[in-house]
Parts: sequence; C-alpha cells; structure tokens
Amino acid sequence: MAPYDFAARRHYLSDDLAEGTEIVCNTSQADYFVNVLRLKSGSTILVFNGRDGEWRAELSQVKRNDCTLTMLQQVRPQASGPDIHYLFAPLKQARLDYMVQKATEMGVAVLRPVITQRTNVDGVNLERMRGNAIEAAEQCGILRIPMVEEPVKLGPVLDEWDPARALIYCDEAASEHSPVETLAGVASGPMGVLVGPEGGFGTEEQDMLRRQSFVVPISLGPRVLRADTAAVAALALVNAVLGDWRSN
Ligand code: SAH
Repeated sequence: MAPYDFAARRHYLSDDLAEGTEIVCNTSQADYFVNVLRLKSGSTILVFNGRDGEWRAELSQVKRNDCTLTMLQQVRPQASGPDIHYLFAPLKQARLDYMVQKATEMGVAVLRPVITQRTNVDGVNLERMRGNAIEAAEQCGILRIPMVEEPVKLGPVLDEWDPARALIYCDEAASEHSPVETLAGVASGPMGVLVGPEGGFGTEEQDMLRRQSFVVPISLGPRVLRADTAAVAALALVNAVLGDWRSN
C-alpha cells in the first residue's frame, strides 16, 4: 500500500493540482485553515481533488480570512479502486449519511440512489451525499471520490443496465447459501451491488430482479440486516472475493 501518513490532515479541493499551483482560498477554506486549525504562513497540509493524487501544500499570505495554498509536491499518485457501482434505496438522513460514508470507505466508484416500491424518503439531497463522500475520503485518505448520480426507479435501472456488469443483488429472501461461494462463481470485472430499503424489496421487484441474466442474488446470512449494515457486509464480501481486497 502506498505510504500513508495517518496523522496528517487531508483537505478536499476542487481545483486542479500541479507543482507550483497557487490557490487563493475561498472564505470558508480560509476561515477553517486560519481560524479553526490556526495554521500560519509556512504551515503545510495535504490536499487532494479526486483526480490529481495527494499533494503537500504550503500556506502563505495568511490574514484573518485569507490565505493562499501553493502545491509543493505530490506525495501520493492518484489511486483508482474497484469498479463497483453501489446502488441503494435511500434511507432516512442519518442512516443515509452513514451508508454513503461507509460505501466511500469501501472504495465504490459510483453511488446510485434507486427508488423502490418501499423506499420511504421524499427526495435525496445529492449535495449532502457528496459532502459525506468527501468527508469520508478526507478522514480515510481515499483519493477517488465516488460519483453521486441522480435517483432512478428500479425498473429503468434494470432496463438500461449494461449486462457486462454483474449486479450483485442482496436478496433478503434468498435461500441461505454462502455468499462467498456465490461470488466465487462471478467473473471479476465491472460490478454493481444493490441493497434495498428499510421495508425490503417487494415481491414483484424480487421477481423482476431474478429474471435478469446479469443479476446475481446473494444471501447475507440467516438474519435480516439493517440496510446500512447490509451495505457494509455486502461491499466487504464483494471486495474480498472480487474487488481490491484480494492479494495482487
Ligand atoms: N428493516 C430493516 C432491514 C431491511 S432489509 C431496516 O430497517 O433496514 C434492507 C435490505 O438489506 C434488503 O432489501 C437487502 O437488500 C439487504 N439485506 C438485509 N438482510 C439481508 C440478508 N440476510 N440477505 C441478503 N440481503 C439482506
């Protein structure tokens, strides 16, 4: 694994990052660096943008609500990650915040809210989801920020699905069978993982999913897990058997 400085603080920036790049911080950035972190001119921090790797940057021209960051050197190259699209029925806010952060830590490339029959939330705050993904990336040193996509109904998701991408369907009604054995039969490559809502999938949805050639139903054991727990369990299994937790 690339050298990772656990102690250092990391901050997400949207700007392009290259040697010598100078970024004049916006008010909220300056307020955080200067007044919250109390950094001074000459202090250095780690920054990333999800595209150009991780950079050590130096603060300069520090005033009350103003500072400039200069990119000194790239300390970690841009990392990729497993080609996993995580599809999920949106949950109520706190649980959704948690699930987005955990899926980001699990290295997913895409976060895709899917509206199912029993989804019981009105609308999804995509900016909040993106903020949670960035916060998880800052805390865990993850360099690839997952794409956050617009919510889509389950039917159209399946109609437009690329059959070359296996869709691992966490099926709470699945007969008990080792998910490790099931996943071991899946070719590694582009994948989707689907977790349902608090009320589970409807029977018509279960039938629709099981009819698809690209869908791989898996059981997550004999107990029904909360949806946010299922997210972590499923993504851990998929990463361990098919993703980037396998030894190279
Ligand atoms: N009522 C609980 C559990 C709902 S089940 C809650 O409030 O979250 C939510 C989703 O998690 C299911 O649709 C399924 O995708 C997944 N899941 C939970 N337990 C599972 C199991 N034992 N096997 C497979 N998937 C499971």
